[in-house]
Amino acid sequence: MVIDTLRLPSNGMLGVPQEIEVKALTGKELNMVYSSLSDASINEIIRRITVPSLDPLTLCDEDKGAILYFTRLLTFGNDITQFLKCPHCGKVHEVVAHYSDFIMHYLDDFTSTFNLDNGDKVYKRIPTAEIQKEIDYFKEKHSVGSLDSYLLYLLARIEKVVTSKGETISNRLLLFHYLGDLPGKSFGDIVENIKTQFGLEVTFPAECPETDREFLGVVGINADFFRFSNSNVPLGDEQA
Ligand SMILES: [Zn+2]
Repeated sequence: MVIDTLRLPSNGMLGVPQEIEVKALTGKELNMVYSSLSDASINEIIRRITVPSLDPLTLCDEDKGAILYFTRLLTFGNDITQFLKCPHCGKVHEVVAHYSDFIMHYLDDFTSTFNLDNGDKVYKRIPTAEIQKEIDYFKEKHSVGSLDSYLLYLLARIEKVVTSKGETISNRLLLFHYLGDLPGKSFGDIVENIKTQFGLEVTFPAECPETDREFLGVVGINADFFRFSNSNVPLGDEQA
């Protein structure tokens, strides 16, 4: 059995271990993603290949991604063949990315608060799948439309706000209205400060064979991702 140690990008700072063991995929697990590439199949795979077995609900997207790319490395090797639409000529090119070129950014000195110009203090958090589920539930319950999806993005990433008057706002609905009612400048401060950058950087330079110009490729977790690098034989009719 192929198994190796992975240091997770959350780096032991979000309540999951800093280092875990990850197993290569078996036929059983590949079957799951070929049958249905969904959150459910991805979560089941993560449960099965991590030692100790991790609950995917407790993981942030960055850790989940790192686990999936690592098991792909263990299963199929360093090369990842991708079919990308070229921004220069508009055609789809077959390009190869290499796992070894990817850079892992680990979470460190996570600054969890920042102040707005009005003196209110924002407490940040990094959303786990469980938090994302709560936000999905909130969206459903309050019929939040697509025009407000950025507010949902913020609700997932803000634990609470303590106002300059000492009032704590942690209820999601109150926070939703608080954020929407902020002056644009304060809202801009939140947008600037809310993002925490870490995880595996999966962009890579690709070249257009028609124009010799470079473009930036991204390795996405799609059906091609879970295949052997030198195989482009379509599975079923999904490539039709
Ligand atoms: Zn091209």
